[in-house]
Amino acid sequence: MELKSFIREIPDFPKPGINFKDITPLLKSPAALQATFDQLAAPFRDQKIDFVAGTESRGFMFGVGVAQALGVGFIPIRKKGKLPAEVFSETYELEYGTDCLEIHKDAIEKDQKVLLVDDLLATGGTMKATAKLVEACGGQVVSCAFLIELSFLGGKEALGDYSIHTLISY
Ligand code: IMP
Repeated sequence: MELKSFIREIPDFPKPGINFKDITPLLKSPAALQATFDQLAAPFRDQKIDFVAGTESRGFMFGVGVAQALGVGFIPIRKKGKLPAEVFSETYELEYGTDCLEIHKDAIEKDQKVLLVDDLLATGGTMKATAKLVEACGGQVVSCAFLIELSFLGGKEALGDYSIHTLISY
């Protein structure tokens, strides 16, 4: 199924010059949503993935679906201060300022294989922080899977040696 037609582009959101990729039409279509989960999961069906990890908040929507498609559990990577047990934290650069993500220290056992999922790859900062958190727990990052890649922002290069899997590219 061709998924790009389910992405709406909103000019000048959240600020002038940004052409925002709006995934809400895709979320409203049961067929497109199921196809997204299946296509994101497809390369990893035989890779003995232990968990899918997804980043708050749109990484949750796709990460849980991919985890279900692979028959594995889901690990949430959350914004600072939301997780109740002991955490590892990772601060990363945004265009203006910094942000901080956290994972439960006991979320992953050593060498468990984790697939990372988010909706969109832009500069790669969010996914790099996510990968570092999974590795801080002892997990092994198998790949980073995204519905959308904004290829002109250099996210693939920023993610260096991590393998990436994307369904739609701009
Ligand atoms: P990065 O850290 O620069 O790669 O930005 C990726 C994060 O920003 C993802 O978690 C996305 O949810 C969010 N993001 C950036 N641009 C867009 C967009 O155009 N549409 C939807 N999400 C976006």
